[in-house]
Amino acid sequence: MEKKDMQEQVVINGVEQFRGFAKEGRCASYIPMLAERNPDHLAVSVIGPDGYEVRAGDSEELFTLQSVSKVLTFILACMDKGLPYVLERVDVEPTGDTFNSIIRLESHQPGKPFNPMINAGAITVSSMLTGHSPSEKLTKLLHFLQQITGRALTINEAVFQSEWQTANRNRALAYYLMDSGFLDCPVEEALEVYLKQCAIEVTVTDLAKIGLVIAHDGYHPLLKTQLFSKEVAKMAKALMVTCGMYNASGKFAAFIGLPAKSGVSGAILAAVPSHASLHSPFPTGCGIGIYGPAIDEIGNSVAGVQLLKYLATKWQMTIF
Ligand code: GLN
Repeated sequence: MEKKDMQEQVVINGVEQFRGFAKEGRCASYIPMLAERNPDHLAVSVIGPDGYEVRAGDSEELFTLQSVSKVLTFILACMDKGLPYVLERVDVEPTGDTFNSIIRLESHQPGKPFNPMINAGAITVSSMLTGHSPSEKLTKLLHFLQQITGRALTINEAVFQSEWQTANRNRALAYYLMDSGFLDCPVEEALEVYLKQCAIEVTVTDLAKIGLVIAHDGYHPLLKTQLFSKEVAKMAKALMVTCGMYNASGKFAAFIGLPAKSGVSGAILAAVPSHASLHSPFPTGCGIGIYGPAIDEIGNSVAGVQLLKYLATKWQMTIF
């Protein structure tokens, strides 16, 4: 068997082996449109710096970024405003609480969110993006994503509307943040940017390309261009390791050991730097995109996490 065929067989086997795990989870229902997804879908794409991609499963499916977008707006805000400006308004400490928790906002330097990967921190970051309106901010974000993925991405308006109308908790977080002086723009504008960035649609290939650029410290190996600084990429990876899988980040680090970020749509983005993949078929690093919409009570794709664990183990990929 050719080498490429062998790698393809590994991901195909992985998808078939772990698809059944979806039964242990459910599609997110607090965003009504997400409840309508097919819970049995599972897809993966792995891309190396030479553009070599292996993918398997329902890899043509489009799904929304949801919390995966938090990494991207964090990077963009750092590019726009500089790291010190961003870190003055949002900390980099994991919480161990759920992603939409409200409980610590009052206990930590009044109102300063703990990290950009939980909703409070992400809404703060969205408010910092440069632009005079939500649409200007989102245009910048979409342009940034187009550079990475090589195609124009769009916002799923129905998913956005479905969440906009039921976003009571995010509204509560945003109004509290405004009261404590942590928002850079009016509350409803920050919310609109945040909920629309969550509703940007991607494929697993798009996610894998994003992971590839983060793994390569902001350098896009296919474009041969540095898109953002190494310093920002390092911060993004550290945040992914410590906070990227919500309050399962500790276990994820212990048992898988890769910088990753999940979303309630069932998306998982993983960035595998070269030093973490020396013995894999991608010895110079890779990006991984996974989609499996049935999530656990914490908000992570059940089959997706199993599939990532399988690949990480099989290919000996870990940053530790
Ligand atoms: N849009 C979702 C929310 O704010 C994103 C959450 C997530 O993916 N964890 O609730």
